[in-house]
Amino acid sequence: MTLPTSSPSDPLLNALRQGVRQLMRDFPAAYWRELDEAQAYPTEFMRAMTEAGYLAALIPEVYGGGGVGITEASVILEEVNRAGGNAAVGHAQMYTMGVLLRHGSEAQKQTYLPPIARGELRLQAFGVTEPDAGSNTLNIRTTAVRQGDHYLINGQKVWTSRAQYSDLMILLARTTPKNQVKKRTEGLSVFLVDMREALGRGMTIEPIPTMINHHTTQVYFDNLKVPTENLIGEEGQGFRYILSGLNAERILIAAECIGDGYWFIEKARDYANQRVVFDVPIGAHQGIQFPIAQAYAQLRAADLMRFDAARRYDAGEKVGPEANMAKYLAAEASWQAANVAMQTFGGFGFAREYDVERKFRETKLYQIAPISTNLILAYLGQHVLKMPRSY
Ligand SMILES: Cc1cc2nc3c(=O)[nH]c(=O)nc-3n(C[C@H](O)[C@H](O)[C@H](O)COP(=O)(O)OP(=O)(O)OC[C@H]3O[C@@H](n4cnc5c(N)ncnc54)[C@H](O)[C@@H]3O)c2cc1C
Repeated sequence: MTLPTSSPSDPLLNALRQGVRQLMRDFPAAYWRELDEAQAYPTEFMRAMTEAGYLAALIPEVYGGGGVGITEASVILEEVNRAGGNAAVGHAQMYTMGVLLRHGSEAQKQTYLPPIARGELRLQAFGVTEPDAGSNTLNIRTTAVRQGDHYLINGQKVWTSRAQYSDLMILLARTTPKNQVKKRTEGLSVFLVDMREALGRGMTIEPIPTMINHHTTQVYFDNLKVPTENLIGEEGQGFRYILSGLNAERILIAAECIGDGYWFIEKARDYANQRVVFDVPIGAHQGIQFPIAQAYAQLRAADLMRFDAARRYDAGEKVGPEANMAKYLAAEASWQAANVAMQTFGGFGFAREYDVERKFRETKLYQIAPISTNLILAYLGQHVLKMPRSY
């Protein structure tokens, strides 16, 4: 039996869910397990998602996309994770273009958005994090110095996921030294880097082996030339542009966690109902049943917060607190559900063929990236509750 969820019953959302569920039948758990073992890119999945139009969902129709809201987009990603898959790469192609859409010039949008919508151009790399800056983005050291018709980029990014599989990268770099800016949030700029041209001409990519299949890398810049026409928006305003996309991203990530959470709970419930060790199914024991019920209740509550944040976002409201709470609650709920599923499966939770260990590793990421749980709590403490700033 499929679990009841907190989703509003809406014809478009229902149709999207059915469509993604249908598509995901071609990408069962075994597909993701094999990719995970080979640390491979989900090429066929991405092709199918592109052909179905899901990855262009957030691109306005005038640029060849679906023009739907965050609520609908979040349902697409949720269903991928709920079916046992991993939406991360799809999320990247669906959403990284947001900076370009919100702050790019009309010429940039006309050039890039239609081929991104058709899946002919991959914009899946987002170069913000640096080794010595971490969560403190204002401390990044990669520099972009203007020289005539181009900028010269020098520095290093870390955790730039999908750099080897993407044609384009959104890059955040410092254009004015930190000690020369009026406001501490100024002096950073966003560039669209064509990685096909940059590779070997000032840009090198080094994969980082990780505990999940995330195609993540370090990227080094050594006098890379980026044409001035690839600057997005105004020079010096890049931090603001990156921030402006974070609320929508938080809601999408929350939805992926919710998808994971329902997957874990369904798996745990089904296993608990059929596994018999002391003459009755283990699910009859309250030590097994109650944690699953608790995880389900927490997940339903997080799901409500996610839909509240998504609805407000689509209505044009300011949603910083709601988007952050949705992401926080959903990441906590999916991690709780992951632990409960592991415990319910006992030793079999460790066996790859059940996929619990893979999803367990995958869902842990969301308490750390794209923003860690502590930084969300700091945001709520300082900006919503008006408590002292800790940094
Ligand atoms: C698999 C993976 C993929 C990623 N993909 C990308 C990507 O594509 N592009 C990109 O730009 N980045 C990416 N990231 C980076 C990710 O966004 C960062 O890891 C994340 O922002 C945290 O930064 P950090 O790892 O440097 O941790 P740090 O900032 O060093 O933090 C370490 C710990 O200290 C805590 N902490 C730090 N400061 C405070 C504080 N003031 N108060 C309380 N606690 C604090 C944090 O919560 C965390 O638990 C990825 C990371 C991973 C692991």
